[in-house]
Amino acid sequence: MLSWDDYKSDAPLKTVPSQPVDQPLDPDTLAKTLASQPANTAAGLNGETALNGAASSAQDEISRTVEEARQLIADLDRDYELMSSGDPAPAVQETPAAYGEPSAGKEPSAGKEPSASKEPSASKEPSATYKEPSAEEHEAAPATGLEELEMGAKRVEVDDKRMINCRADLNQLVPFKYDWAWQKYLDGCANHWMPQEVNMTADVAMWRSENALTEDERRIVMRSLGYFSTADSLVANNLVLAIYRLITNPECRQYLLRQAFEEAIHTHAYQYCIESLGMDEGEVFNMYREVPSVAEKASWSLSHTQSLSDPNFTTGTPESDQELLRNLIAFYCVTEGIFFYCGFSQILSMGRRNKMTGVAEQFQYILRDESMHLNFGVDVINQIKLENPHLWTPEFQREAIRMIVEGTELEVAFARDTMPRGVLGMNAAMMEEYLHFIANRRLNQLGLPEQYPGAENPFPWMSEIMDLRKEKNFFETRVTEYQTGGALTW
Ligand code: FE
Repeated sequence: MLSWDDYKSDAPLKTVPSQPVDQPLDPDTLAKTLASQPANTAAGLNGETALNGAASSAQDEISRTVEEARQLIADLDRDYELMSSGDPAPAVQETPAAYGEPSAGKEPSAGKEPSASKEPSASKEPSATYKEPSAEEHEAAPATGLEELEMGAKRVEVDDKRMINCRADLNQLVPFKYDWAWQKYLDGCANHWMPQEVNMTADVAMWRSENALTEDERRIVMRSLGYFSTADSLVANNLVLAIYRLITNPECRQYLLRQAFEEAIHTHAYQYCIESLGMDEGEVFNMYREVPSVAEKASWSLSHTQSLSDPNFTTGTPESDQELLRNLIAFYCVTEGIFFYCGFSQILSMGRRNKMTGVAEQFQYILRDESMHLNFGVDVINQIKLENPHLWTPEFQREAIRMIVEGTELEVAFARDTMPRGVLGMNAAMMEEYLHFIANRRLNQLGLPEQYPGAENPFPWMSEIMDLRKEKNFFETRVTEYQTGGALTW
């Protein structure tokens, strides 16, 4: 299992050169660019015209794009060779899974811990070559899993499986192509927990007491629950209503179903905290449309799901495939990968100081799940890149960088709003540094250049809290209790 420190060194990751992109964007230029551009969401839908128009012209268009992409990749590879004697260019993982946080949740006693090398290289034959779809494939829409049965049809083979735009039967889980996705499903199940298992008694007493918490600490608890109580619902809705049908691989869908349930458990956990503490539910659940620093994050996430949630949206053109990638980056790398980190570190810092320990424990379990969601999302994105290198153009890479920088700025604004003064051993400036550090990691995971050179982690204790190995006892106890309890009741 990789730990946070392993990841930081970046050493074990096997890499291949990616297309170089611009050096860190100048903030002024970035701000102007952002201001001058319409929202990203509509951009990908232009691809529909290619589908609906004359098939032959669409085919020509795609062939041209593919040829251009191939030429571009060849040029970039040549450039890379020339510069590789110096500092290596940003790298795309040859296989998915740049494990950011300590990989969440190995089943403690199962003895089936995937080795560091197993997860990233698990996908059998990750095809790095874009295969131009045949004329028939072009005609057919990607599979959904709800097609009419075709008696005696050819059995599904590993090579038939693809992350997006797959035409093979999606109801056959095996043979696995992406073992890492199945392993994450197993890991998620092994870490199952429920909010009611956490004792909230001390929190209730502390929240009711007049002077156990400062006003600034109370503000942090309220704002965090305000953001998270609706954020996990947004993530769940995006999973179920937007991306599930577009990811055309059964083992990944199996994880998505598990993730969707975990999002429900997280929303349940926030509701459980809010109810236990006797907070004004209307105030907390409405923060995402009443408190600007909360609303801006929620609204940014929503802007990246609207086009995909259109029932008529389908992948299959470079534009629509890129639109799916935008959504995956927005939800996995920014929403779950950046927007959660100010609130998580604030509440966990509170728990370290023996304040609101029940809420902090809930957040700790949620963070563990989220860490796996993030890693799964990064694996999916990198696998799509491998199978469809024509999508990962320099222009698209710049857009991905821009999205991560935008998300980071919104999270910094949230940090400032929630911490007008220093509190809990942290302040807004330290949080900004931490978020820059996190943003660099997200960029690294996608094979993109860091935008915040030299950013350090001012909260090294976060990696300890997130390190699952310290929590094995908890899960061993819980898992055993479930089994024993179930047997006794039965
Ligand atoms: Fe999540």
